[in-house]
Amino acid sequence: MVYKKRFDGRKFDELRKIEAEVGIIPNADGSARFKIGKTEAIAGVYGPKEMHPKFLQNPKKGTLRCRYDMISFSVNERARPGPSRRSQELGLVIASALEPVCLLNDFPKLIVDVFIEIPQADAGTRCAAICAASMALADAGIPMKDLVAAVAVGKIGDKICIDINKEEEDYDGPGGATDIPIAYSPVENKLTLLQLDGKIKDEDLVKAIKEGIKGAKKIYEIQKAALKKKYKVNEVLNE
Ligand code: ADP
Repeated sequence: MVYKKRFDGRKFDELRKIEAEVGIIPNADGSARFKIGKTEAIAGVYGPKEMHPKFLQNPKKGTLRCRYDMISFSVNERARPGPSRRSQELGLVIASALEPVCLLNDFPKLIVDVFIEIPQADAGTRCAAICAASMALADAGIPMKDLVAAVAVGKIGDKICIDINKEEEDYDGPGGATDIPIAYSPVENKLTLLQLDGKIKDEDLVKAIKEGIKGAKKIYEIQKAALKKKYKVNEVLNE
């Protein structure tokens, strides 16, 4: 039952090393890269622009569409290129995690397209994708109530662990592995994504969500710092 020490030596509440930057794709309206440990996501935003085919247009508000794609070389055994059930589902999941903070009412009939590529995967790719996409949307100037930060919490054996990697996700020792990706908006104080793969007791789920929110708040600061760096906010404030 006891998971004494994490496989990669991290503390149970320690995130992997994070890198975040915005404005990495010159041809996109907004873009970002978010790397956490060996998991990396890059996102490019196009729009708002007219939606085709027209019958898909929403006359009341803009549409947010996300495409998630794992690059073939992102994992040890080549991932099959092209859309799959998993990637289609993740596109929908990621869009629904971002929609609550996007103010799309000003863009009836228009679409905002978010393309997310995963060059490297070591678990938690949907969370890295949400982090990158949310920064890219802000970089594109899409009006937003907040950024969304996401992280996968897990119960590995008997321990709640933050930001689980693939080795932990595959843990098959006593107690097994439960994977709980969450997305969180600090301004709204709302979870915009909560998924669970595995088994967990109610009280442990509450604990896991609390730990997840703590981790998400740390990620949020890094996302904000990356945006401020591009737009030189600190330099302007210190002038
Ligand atoms: P998430 O990446 O959000 O945790 P999943 O739970 O579906 O999403 O996948 C877990 C992990 O399994 C991925 O991050 C990746 O490391 C690995 N994985 C997913 N698809 C493949 C694949 N086709 N080949 C090898 N590994 C994969």
